[in-house]
Amino acid sequence: MAEERTFIAIKPDGVQRGLIGDIIKRFEQKGFKLVGMKFTQASEELLKEHYIDLKARPFYEGLCKYMHSGPVCAMVWEGLNVVKTGRVMLGETNPADSKPGTIRGDFCIQVGRNICHGSDSVDSANKEIALWFKPEELVSWKSCAGSWIYE
Ligand code: UDP
Ligand code: MG
Repeated sequence: MAEERTFIAIKPDGVQRGLIGDIIKRFEQKGFKLVGMKFTQASEELLKEHYIDLKARPFYEGLCKYMHSGPVCAMVWEGLNVVKTGRVMLGETNPADSKPGTIRGDFCIQVGRNICHGSDSVDSANKEIALWFKPEELVSWKSCAGSWIYE
């Protein structure tokens, strides 16, 4: 169970606003383990595939354009229930509904500039990780803090 992985990305607005460190810090201090990271300007093809489930939505084109407008910090984080807990840490899709203490609740205002992405299920996490990372780009490693984080 502690090997569950999720895909977290800091979107172009999060990068431009200098929030990479703040967002990574929250996952690190929680106790989750970073197993993959790349700073990249994603292709439109990749982004269209990443958001394929939203293809019929009116904001789909604008969303892909926004995500392609600059670099993103794409990451894979590992830990117990990291998919669900990661979503809680991000906050609601619309920052206006996100509680203070969540990333979106603390750092942004509008849904179309909500600074971060997180997989919404284990199944979509696995798909997204495979889309953004080659297997050899993910690092399996043992944290010396592991036995102080898990009982
Ligand atoms: N989005 C938007 N307008 C909307 C709903 C969503 O611009 O009305 C964007 C927003 O950036 C969101 C992304 O589309 O993060 C993906 O939407 P989803 O419903 O999957 O939300 P998420 O999983 O990111 O919370
Ligand atoms: Mg989503």
